[in-house]
Amino acid sequence: MNVYTTKRFEFWAAHRYWNPNWSKERNREVFGDDNQAALAPAYGFSAAHRLHSPSLSDEANRALYGKCDDPHGHGHNYVFEAVVAGPVDSETGMVVTRGELDAAATAIAADLDSRYLDAEVPAFREIVSTGENIVAYLWQRLYAALGNRLRRVKLWETPNNTFEITA
Ligand SMILES: [Zn+2]
Repeated sequence: MNVYTTKRFEFWAAHRYWNPNWSKERNREVFGDDNQAALAPAYGFSAAHRLHSPSLSDEANRALYGKCDDPHGHGHNYVFEAVVAGPVDSETGMVVTRGELDAAATAIAADLDSRYLDAEVPAFREIVSTGENIVAYLWQRLYAALGNRLRRVKLWETPNNTFEITA
């Protein structure tokens, strides 16, 4: 088993994603709309769910999931992060353009935002909407857009509850 440890260092600087050799439109296409500042590629959606496995009895569900099995459901402000890796394009200076990453991630977030996951998102009709299953769903959809450049997807269900898949 490998144990990873990280230390964070901070610095402040101003910059802008902008290739002076390109038109305004091309810059926007490659770097996205928010090319004024460096932002971590984190995306969010707010959704409700209920932890309830159809293959378990009501009693077993209550024992296993506790208050998360409440039939009225409950909500979270989910945040997810996609890590991509690969060669850095010499022209854009990036592994994946912000435009491409934003398009893939915001489409997924839009499909889940303001939904009752178990009732309104087909993927969660048959499987329990646990963090494990939600991060697997995000992985599948991001992989379809980004291919094997996708290396890690991390989902925050709460600030203290995270789920992660790595390639
Ligand atoms: Zn929950």
